[in-house]
Amino acid sequence: MSMNRRDFLKTAAAGGGMLLASQAMPVNAAMSKELPPEAVGILYDATLCIGCKSCMVNCKTYNSMPKGALSYGKEAVEPPYEYSTPEKIWDDPHDLSAKTLNVIKVAKKGTGAAKDMPENGYSFVKQHCMHCITPACVSACPVAALQKDPKNGVVYYEENKCIGCRYCQLACPFRIPKYEFSKALPQVRKCQLCNHRYAEGKYSACCEFCPTGASIFGKVLDLRKEAQKRLTLKTGDQYDFPVQTVDSKNTSRRTVSKYISHVYGMKEAGGTQYLLLAGLPFEMLGFDKNIKDEALPDLTWAYISKIPAVIATVLIGGAATWAVTKGRNKDKGE
Ligand code: SF4
Ligand code: SF4
Ligand code: SF4
Repeated sequence: MSMNRRDFLKTAAAGGGMLLASQAMPVNAAMSKELPPEAVGILYDATLCIGCKSCMVNCKTYNSMPKGALSYGKEAVEPPYEYSTPEKIWDDPHDLSAKTLNVIKVAKKGTGAAKDMPENGYSFVKQHCMHCITPACVSACPVAALQKDPKNGVVYYEENKCIGCRYCQLACPFRIPKYEFSKALPQVRKCQLCNHRYAEGKYSACCEFCPTGASIFGKVLDLRKEAQKRLTLKTGDQYDFPVQTVDSKNTSRRTVSKYISHVYGMKEAGGTQYLLLAGLPFEMLGFDKNIKDEALPDLTWAYISKIPAVIATVLIGGAATWAVTKGRNKDKGE
């Protein structure tokens, strides 16, 4: 039996969690654990990142276009800026949110004086959806509003199917999907690897506008090779780092920094299509040490819907959303 958002919120508000569980279908229970052959992704090399935030600015701009992850409509919308000062001069998000799909943060240890040094050093880090090979968010969604493209592996969202249960948020080991709590009809928001741009021969805006090659787009198999090659380079040597895409003719000659000998995303959560290299340990950059190397097949809708605490969370959240929606509609005289 299919369920729309209105049915879901009504059922949740009425306290019918188990009824809800029995009505939804485990649509995504079985999922491949293999990397799709044409999988695309991003390699982020924190040692090349200068923290300019061009990727953040352009992520907002190009996802506020029709079919972008922040718009979905036929019309472009104003990029949803976030202000932390009363003057409202700067777009200043501190973390991922329903308005910010990509965030650059800075991590430091001790005095934080030297870039990429594990002692008294600092590093930038770029956070957005990892596009997991076996995505827990897709497994947990009871109505297949989140899907993994079988060809290129992009994990994308169909807002018309979403019932607002937020199981995807609970299931994601990287805490990526965000919810538009402030809206009357909230949606889930997360990076979709700029898949709306592919038809025009374009690729991820964050990579296209990264001036240093810290973020590069390409086939995951090529990105893996490039990442592993960088780990064999000698610290202090010169290397021509590709800029924008992994196979780009546009390169930037730079001195190789000391890397942590690990490509993050090769194995974590069963492997991801977003890969990272860094000079500081990944746990210092905010990545959870407890994320296992295996995929998370247990986090399916069928499993998660039997956990009473999860049902309670959804009931409370669903009821609150319903109350907010109802209140707003009343204000509007609907
Ligand atoms: S990082 Fe989270 S939201 Fe992104 S694909 Fe993986 S499970 Fe889904
Ligand atoms: S791939 Fe697109 S949506 Fe994802 S972080 Fe980069 S610019 Fe933003
Ligand atoms: S655009 Fe490139 S260099 Fe600038 S902050 Fe983003 S990843 Fe770093």
